[in-house]
Amino acid sequence: MTHVFHRQLRSAPPIAVGGDGPYIVDSEGNRYLDASGGAAVSCLGHSDRDVVKAITDQVKGLAYAHSAFFTNHPMEALAEALVAKAPGDLSWVYFTSGGSEAVEAALKMARQYFVEVGQPERCRFIARRQSYHGSTLGALSVGGHDARRGPFSPILLDSYHVSPCYAYRHQRDGESDDSYAARLGGELEATIRDLGPETVIGFVAETVVGATAGAVPPVADYFRRVREICDRYGILLILDEVMCGMGRTGSLYACEQENIAPDLLASAKGIGAGYQPIGAVLVSSKIYRAFRDGSGGFLHGHTYMGHATACAAGLAVQQKLQAPGMMERIRGLGEELHQRLEARFGNHHFVGDIRGRGLMQAIELVQDRGSKAPFEAELRLDGRIKDQAMARGLICYPGSGTADGHNGTHVLIAPPYIVGTAELDRIVTVLGEAVDAALAEIT
Ligand code: PLP
Repeated sequence: MTHVFHRQLRSAPPIAVGGDGPYIVDSEGNRYLDASGGAAVSCLGHSDRDVVKAITDQVKGLAYAHSAFFTNHPMEALAEALVAKAPGDLSWVYFTSGGSEAVEAALKMARQYFVEVGQPERCRFIARRQSYHGSTLGALSVGGHDARRGPFSPILLDSYHVSPCYAYRHQRDGESDDSYAARLGGELEATIRDLGPETVIGFVAETVVGATAGAVPPVADYFRRVREICDRYGILLILDEVMCGMGRTGSLYACEQENIAPDLLASAKGIGAGYQPIGAVLVSSKIYRAFRDGSGGFLHGHTYMGHATACAAGLAVQQKLQAPGMMERIRGLGEELHQRLEARFGNHHFVGDIRGRGLMQAIELVQDRGSKAPFEAELRLDGRIKDQAMARGLICYPGSGTADGHNGTHVLIAPPYIVGTAELDRIVTVLGEAVDAALAEIT
């Protein structure tokens, strides 16, 4: 008996009662190795004492004070910590309580920016197919995953989608990375011209695609071209690092590895590492100055933005993420995870691609490796893998619609940065069993 409107209404999830490093414990005493941090959230595992202490200390002093009346020390300190390591001139932080709110705020901030600078005719966003930017209406509008947009499409904002940078499926035989990046850049530019550059606000993209395509990194030079095209037409580049940021790919900000900086950057998940709900938009000086010298404020806000307890947790998490050696550790563990995935799935009949960056790795399942034919959505392969993994005490993050927004399956692995090699072994072994058991149900 429950009064909770759960995600799935025909099955009851186990009750999580405890956290122990990379494990979650349920009310029956079962232990689950959390190989995906839920949805790439719990980057420090589930029992980090320093983060817990920072939260309890903060609650004892001041849990919350509304940001329309006060600022607070942890909010100021967290903004400073995020900006200290941010690329380009991202120098200001607008806090939210999660990823969708961060993307939503970034979209509205981009729009108001153009009103502030006297270009109110700019009202369109361009984004990419097979992307996910959140579930609120604005964020869903720029999202490019057909199945997730499905029933809501009549009430979404007009937005325009170009091809993802998705080498496994769309880079042609014999096409170099450079030519592929140039082809995608050409498509973006043609779309901007068709719409009329003076009507476009921004281009929105995940630096490394997460939930909808499964750990898809860009090819070299793609984002440099995108940045150049945005600059040429006076369009803002909005990067969504809600999933891939905060060290997940081996650098605090994923775009550091692309050697570019966006005008606005949305982040969330890893900022609070699951200890508190928190997100942020990092804002470049150009945008901040337009607001400061224009109307003086952003016409937007949420009751819990800059929540003192959430920010205290975020600050404690930053101290760990920015500690010497942490990014190197993630990159090293990521390579080890990738090698293990290659060893287990490299010759697997139904695994077409193994990809990722840092501790954000994925396998893509296909019916046929030669043709890359995806499994149909109706087979529910993603749900089957999730169930088989959970029954074996493993949490992973499978998704569907990988190939075209409807069909296709991948499994995302995004373990906490505290795992050791024994846990990487266990993740890959149990994942292999779960994938094979799920495939046996449908093949
Ligand atoms: N953007 C990306 C890239 C995401 O992966 C997600 C969540 O998975 C979101 C936005 C939405 O974040 P939230 O679920 O915290 O609202």
